Amino acid sequence: MRVLDTAALLHWPVNQLADGVCALSQQAELERVSPQRSLLVQSLDSIQWRDVPPAWLQTAREAAASSGDLPRLSDVDVDVLALALALDAMLVTDDYRLQNVMQSQQRPTKSVGTVGAKQVWRWELRCIGCRATTPVPSNVDRSKKGAVAECDICGSPMNVKRAR
Ligand SMILES: [Zn+2]
Repeated sequence: MRVLDTAALLHWPVNQLADGVCALSQQAELERVSPQRSLLVQSLDSIQWRDVPPAWLQTAREAAASSGDLPRLSDVDVDVLALALALDAMLVTDDYRLQNVMQSQQRPTKSVGTVGAKQVWRWELRCIGCRATTPVPSNVDRSKKGAVAECDICGSPMNVKRAR
């Protein structure tokens, strides 16, 4: 059994997601990051979406507190960690904090990128109107989500997207 973090849901080939276990809270996160991918993933019957009981969350918070990683974990991170610990499952994640908590509990993790060849993502700005793309400038607005620039060509908002 494998618990898949949101990076795996975003980047793994669909056939590798089969029989993965995910937290319900990841649906909203995935929807926010990539509505298209979200539609695709939610059309799969093979992923088990689990609610996370309070007792499991408490176990995860304690484990993450003991390694010191807890303050930087999001609610979704804690949900995913709780599933992996409670179900005694491998956690698929590239988040070094989550990897660190799992390792501190002698639990297995697997990285989302190919083993031995850690993947580096490159990002660009893409216009939501005309789809024009530009490299990310060093003075770009910073925000956890949403538009970070205006398109020079058509004036529409530009979002950060993975470069193709
Ligand atoms: Zn544009």
